[in-house]
Amino acid sequence: MVETKTLQIAKVRPAERCRPPPKQNTRLSGALASVSVTSATERREQLKSVYEHARGCTRCPLHQTRTTVVFGSGNADADLMFVGEAPGANEDKQGVPFVGQAGKLLEKLLVEIGLERGQVFICNTVKCRPPNNRDPHPNEIESCHDYLRSQVELIEPTVICTLGNFATKLLRGDTTGISRLHGQAEVRTIGARAIRLYPLYHPAAALYTPSTLEVLRADFHRIPDLLALGAPPQPEVVDEVPEPDTVPSDLPGLESADGDDAAQGGTASSSEPDPIQLDLF
Ligand code: URA
Repeated sequence: MVETKTLQIAKVRPAERCRPPPKQNTRLSGALASVSVTSATERREQLKSVYEHARGCTRCPLHQTRTTVVFGSGNADADLMFVGEAPGANEDKQGVPFVGQAGKLLEKLLVEIGLERGQVFICNTVKCRPPNNRDPHPNEIESCHDYLRSQVELIEPTVICTLGNFATKLLRGDTTGISRLHGQAEVRTIGARAIRLYPLYHPAAALYTPSTLEVLRADFHRIPDLLALGAPPQPEVVDEVPEPDTVPSDLPGLESADGDDAAQGGTASSSEPDPIQLDLF
């Protein structure tokens, strides 16, 4: 049965949503560094800026084989965020994460807890498809990590569900596998943001294994209770004013919008079509 609190969470958006006081986004450099997130509109606009950078990213070899950067889709003001592994062939074509069978299952499970896809934010550990759907390499995951941190800091979700081993290991920073961790929420700090991290089996793993699906479904049905707890206490904001010569200039996708990205080897101007994902923010 759908709990009332789930529906309340789903309804409180975006303007009425209760937020902690705005804070600096510590991961962004250049034009975005000094902007505090204060409203859903700003949140969306800043996310679009990071997306614009990501579209031209050449930080790892995946840029050579991608069709589209699959940045993420959904509500930029979401309480609930899902982080999967990597885009597959369909995602690469459409520019939207989780559009295949695993995505359909994810949507079905969301409906079971009273939510729609457009109310949450969905993304992956890497934003470009690994060729032939191979596992993403550690250097690719690391190259993409700043985009994920920026997404978390801008969206400020309460709960992040990691789907499968890759996202879980990345966001927990250790090698413990999903079969030991699924369904156990813990408070973690990602970038400047404390969130409730909730590891789940990857929907693709549940597609053909009924017992995994049942575990995933049972874990999924506890999400409303987690959301109802609200955000965990946030770390203190440290007012860091870096010396000009200590500002990192090579964060992926975070160079100045009109800067010499290509010259720095970080990003290239994008000739890709603007994918549908932006319409979903
Ligand atoms: N589609 C995605 O976008 N990510 C996954 O991890 C699987 C399918």
